[in-house]
Amino acid sequence: MSDDIQRVAQSFKEQTKNLSQEDAEAHFDIQREQYDREYNNFIEFYQKDECYLCGKPISTISKKNPCLHWLLRRCKFQKKDFNTVYKKFDFYNVSAYLRWVANAEAGSKNINNLKEESSDRKLFETTIKWKNIEWTLDCSHNDFKGHDGTNTDYPHWHFQMRIDGHQFINFNDFHIPFSKDDQLKLVLENDEESGFHHTFGPYGQGMQERMDQLSANPDEFIANAMSSSDPDDGSVHIQSMIMGGKGGISGDKIHEAMEMSKKTGKTLNYCFKKVLGDDPDVSIRTIASPAESVPEIAKRTERKRR
Ligand SMILES: [Zn+2]
Ligand SMILES: [Zn+2]
Repeated sequence: MSDDIQRVAQSFKEQTKNLSQEDAEAHFDIQREQYDREYNNFIEFYQKDECYLCGKPISTISKKNPCLHWLLRRCKFQKKDFNTVYKKFDFYNVSAYLRWVANAEAGSKNINNLKEESSDRKLFETTIKWKNIEWTLDCSHNDFKGHDGTNTDYPHWHFQMRIDGHQFINFNDFHIPFSKDDQLKLVLENDEESGFHHTFGPYGQGMQERMDQLSANPDEFIANAMSSSDPDDGSVHIQSMIMGGKGGISGDKIHEAMEMSKKTGKTLNYCFKKVLGDDPDVSIRTIASPAESVPEIAKRTERKRR
C-alpha cells in the first residue's frame, strides 16, 4: 500500500479528532440523508426489475456501459466482461450493491460476514446470497499488501461467483485492484484509534452487524426479533430454555406461555415470567445464534507461493 494512503489516513484521524460533537452529528445527518435518498431510488427500481444505476431493466446488457446489475446475471453477462465492471465500480460500490439486493430479498441472513467464521489471515471474507446466486468477496492480508515479486504486487481482492451452485467466476480468475478510496476506508476501519466505522447502513447489514446489535442490547434485540413485524425475521435463531424447580413445569403452563407470546408478540421470557409467577426456582435462559439458513462462507484456498 502506498505512503500516500497512510498520509491521508493520518490526516483524516487528526481532522476527526478535532471535530466537535455537533459537527460530527451534522456530518452523520447529511450522510444519512444521502444514503436514504440513494436507497429509496435503488428499491424503487429493484421492485420493477430495473437498475437504478443505469436505468435499464436488469435483463439487459449494454457493453458500452458496464453496470453492477450484470452481477445478478439476469442478462447475458460473461466472465470475461467482469473486468469492465470492477474498473468502473470499486470494492465498496460492489459490496454495497450486492448487500442491498441480498437484503431486499431476505434480510441480513443472506449475508455472512461473521468474524468468528472468518480466518485470521483474512481482512474480510463475506459470502452474499441472492436468489440462485452466491458471491464471495475475499481478501487476505497478503492480498492487501500485494503479492511481492509477482505482477499482482498491488493491493487487491478476490471474487467468486456461483450460479445454482456452479462456479461462474473463480477466486483466482481476477486480482481486483482496490481504489484509493477503498484502501483508505480499509486502513481506517482496521485502525482502532481512527474512530472510523464504515457502515453499509440499515439496508446493507450482514450477520455480523446483527450479532453486534444483539450483544449491545440483548433484551431489545430479542424482543424485536420475536415480533412478527421484524423485516429481518429469521436471521437469528433464538432458543429459550426454561429450568423448572423441583416440581418441574407443567405442559399446560408451557402451552399457555407460548400462546401468550404468539398473541401478544412479547418475548417468551416475559410470558413465562408472567405465567409462572415469581417462582425463584424457575430460570429462563435465552440463547441467540445465527440462523441455520445463513449461507456458509465459501472458502478460498490460497496457493503456497514459491
Ligand atoms: Zn445497471
Ligand atoms: Zn491475491
